[in-house]
Amino acid sequence: MRQGLDEDLIVRVLGTAPKYTIAELEKKFPPRDLPVGAMVTRFAPSPTGFMHIGNLYGALIDYKLAQQSGGVFMLRIEDTDTKREVVGAVDVVKNAMRRFGFEYNNDEKYGPYYQSQRKDIYRSVAAELLRNGRAYPCFLTADDMEKIRSEQSAAGFATGIYGEFARDRDIAPDEIIKHLDNGEVPSIRLYSTGNPNARIFCKDAVRGSIGFPENNEDLVLIKSNDGLPTYHFAHLCDDHFMRTTHVVRGEEWLPSLPLHYQLFRMMEWTPPVYIHTATLDKIDEDTGKQRKMSKRKDPECNVAFFLENGWPTDAVIEYLGNILASGYEEAKLKGVVKNFWEYEMKPKKIPMSGGLFDMKKLEWWAKEYIGAMTVPDLVRAVTDWAKEYGDDKQKMQVADLEYLTAVLAIERDNPKRVRKDFITWKQTLELVEFFWDDLFVPNREYKYNTDVLNAFLETFDIADDKDTWWNKIVEIANRFGIKNGDVAMDLRVALSGRTNTPDLYSIMQVMGKARVTQRIKATL
Ligand code: GLU
Repeated sequence: MRQGLDEDLIVRVLGTAPKYTIAELEKKFPPRDLPVGAMVTRFAPSPTGFMHIGNLYGALIDYKLAQQSGGVFMLRIEDTDTKREVVGAVDVVKNAMRRFGFEYNNDEKYGPYYQSQRKDIYRSVAAELLRNGRAYPCFLTADDMEKIRSEQSAAGFATGIYGEFARDRDIAPDEIIKHLDNGEVPSIRLYSTGNPNARIFCKDAVRGSIGFPENNEDLVLIKSNDGLPTYHFAHLCDDHFMRTTHVVRGEEWLPSLPLHYQLFRMMEWTPPVYIHTATLDKIDEDTGKQRKMSKRKDPECNVAFFLENGWPTDAVIEYLGNILASGYEEAKLKGVVKNFWEYEMKPKKIPMSGGLFDMKKLEWWAKEYIGAMTVPDLVRAVTDWAKEYGDDKQKMQVADLEYLTAVLAIERDNPKRVRKDFITWKQTLELVEFFWDDLFVPNREYKYNTDVLNAFLETFDIADDKDTWWNKIVEIANRFGIKNGDVAMDLRVALSGRTNTPDLYSIMQVMGKARVTQRIKATL
C-alpha cells in the first residue's frame, strides 16, 4: 500500500467529487432477498453490432441457471469502449434475447444496466482505493508506455506497467498537483502488491481450483481518455453491487482471474462463482478436422444468420442446450422432459473444451422440432419469418393463408408419420414452391409417358377418395403393362417438377382440379 490521497486531491484527480461512500453503495444495492441457492447471473455483451453464437451459448447458461434456481437473469450492456461503439448494436442484442426467449429482469434497484451510465459508482469505488493507497493516478502517455514496452522487450522482460516500470507508482501529492496544473488527465491504476513468485488459487466451478502466479501489474482501473472503467474494474464494481452470484464468461478471461480475485480481496468482497466456457468448435469442411469457429469463414458464427435464414430459434436452443448438458437429448427422447427448460443442467458438467457446433446435428434438432409442431404454429412461424426476412417470392407464398395452410398440412395428420424434411422456415417455403404457379419450374428433362398422362386426364375426378384415385392409377398401369409407381412418377413430375415429393394424392387435393389438369395438359 502507498500513502493515500486526501479528499481534495481525490476530487481533482477524478475531476469530480465521489458521489457515494462504499457504505452508501452497500446500502443502495443491498444483498438480494432470494431463496437459498437462487442464482443471480448476467449476460454482459459489449455492443459491437455482432453477436457470436458463443455469446448466445454463454447467455443460455446464464439464463438457464437463473431460471432453474429461481434466481435472476440480467442484461448488462458493457459499453465502455467508446472507440468501438456501433449504432444499433444494443438492438442486435435485445432482439436476439427476445427471439431466443431469454427474459431478463433488470430490476431498477440494481441499475442502471449500461456501464456508461454507472460512472458515479466506478468513481466512488476508485475514490476509496485512492484514499486507502490501493490505487494511484498515473500520468504516463501513450508514447511513454510504448517506450517502456520496447525497452522491456529488448531486455527480455515481461511487458506492462509493473514494479520499477510503473513510473508513477509512488508519485507524491505535489508531483500529482504539478501534472494536474499542467492540464494532464491521469488514468487510475491499481497499486498492485502481488508477488509473481507466489501463487494464488482461484476457483472455477467447472475446472476446480487453479493456481496462478499472483498479479503484479498495475492495471488501469479508470481510463484517462473517457473516465470510463476497464473491463476488470467494471466487473468488480458491477458484479458486486448487482449481487451477481455466478459469472459465466468466455475462457479468454481465465488468465485475468487472479487479477479479479485480487480486486475482490482488496475490497474484502466475496468473489462470484466463475464459469469459464470453452469456445465453440466446428468440423472444418475441407480438412474434416475440429477447429474453432471463425467469424470470417463461418456464417453460422453470427447469431443473425439463424434469424435471417429462418432457423427455428427453439431448435437452436435445444441443440446448444444439448452441447452444454449432454444428458439432455436422452432425457428428451425418453420423454422425461419436453424441452430444455424442463431439464436440470449441472454447472459442473458444462464442457471445458471442444464444445462442437455441428450444422448437421442442428438440422436434426430442427427437423425434430418442426416435425412436432402443429400446422397453425408452423404456418405462423413461416409467415412471420417471410414477412420480416423473406424476398418477394416468399412474401407472395405466405399471402394466401388458406392455401399455405393446406400446403403445409400435407403429411402432418398422422402423428406417427409426420414428414421430417423441413429444417428452416426459408427452406420450408423453398421445398413447397412448386405449389405456386409463378414459382413452379416444369421438368423438361424427364421422359414423360404421354399415354399415361392422357389416360389419367380422361378419368381424373378431384372428388375421388384416395382408394378410388389409386385404383384408377393401378388400372392405367395394368393397361400399359407398367408398374403402378411408374404411373405415379409421371404424374408427380408433371405436377411438381420433382421425382421426390410427399403424398401425391394430398398434393392433388391441395392443388385443386384446375391446377392439376392445367399442369398435365401443359406437360403434354
Ligand atoms: N463484455 C465482456 C465480453 O463480452 C463480458 C465478459 C463477462 O461476461 O464478464 O467478453
